[in-house]
Amino acid sequence: MRVLLVEDDARIAADVGRALTAAGYRVETCADGEEAWFLGDTEDYDLIVLDLGLPGMDGLAVLKRWRAGGRTTPVLVLTARGSWSERVEGIDAGADDYLPKPFQMEELVARARALIRRSLGHAAAVLTVGRLSVDTRSMSVSVDAVPVPVSPLEYRLVAYLAHQRDRVVPTPELLDHLYGDDDAREANALEAVVARLRRKLGGGIIETRRGFGYTLASDGG
Ligand code: CA
Repeated sequence: MRVLLVEDDARIAADVGRALTAAGYRVETCADGEEAWFLGDTEDYDLIVLDLGLPGMDGLAVLKRWRAGGRTTPVLVLTARGSWSERVEGIDAGADDYLPKPFQMEELVARARALIRRSLGHAAAVLTVGRLSVDTRSMSVSVDAVPVPVSPLEYRLVAYLAHQRDRVVPTPELLDHLYGDDDAREANALEAVVARLRRKLGGGIIETRRGFGYTLASDGG
């Protein structure tokens, strides 16, 4: 899952970035409204966390421009404490949820999780596809209710596929949502991770569609 964090307060950005990374998300940070608008308009994020007070272009204007341009990415707005009018404006401008500052990091992460899964049609925090379950709170994976230990990268891969359910995810999209720009992100590195996961999960869970990408078996393998 790929998250854009738009926050010009360096300390808050570092804290939130750390918490979201620890929760298994690939996080990109941006401190300027104009740049945020461009990134949200041209890149494919699973969630955007948006501060409203920003240099360049304020957060509300950024959000309105995304929505006017047809961008439906879920947006969690960070508002000033007690400012009910800011919350109303944010929601009217197309925010999916808001969080007043200061906030508990656990609450921000829980709201992020809920927004991402709801935007993809999942009602609960445990995603089940065929024999596989992915618990997005504990970042744990099980097959036939038996826990399978996975690395953070393996978790990100399996969680992304589970969020997409029976959609075949193209390899470039998967690379985009798993790795930062500076990481090794070749398709054969991805194949190695998939091979490792297959050994751990057992056969028939992750399916390869040659020339297309990857999907999870929904029929119980
Ligand atoms: Ca700010």
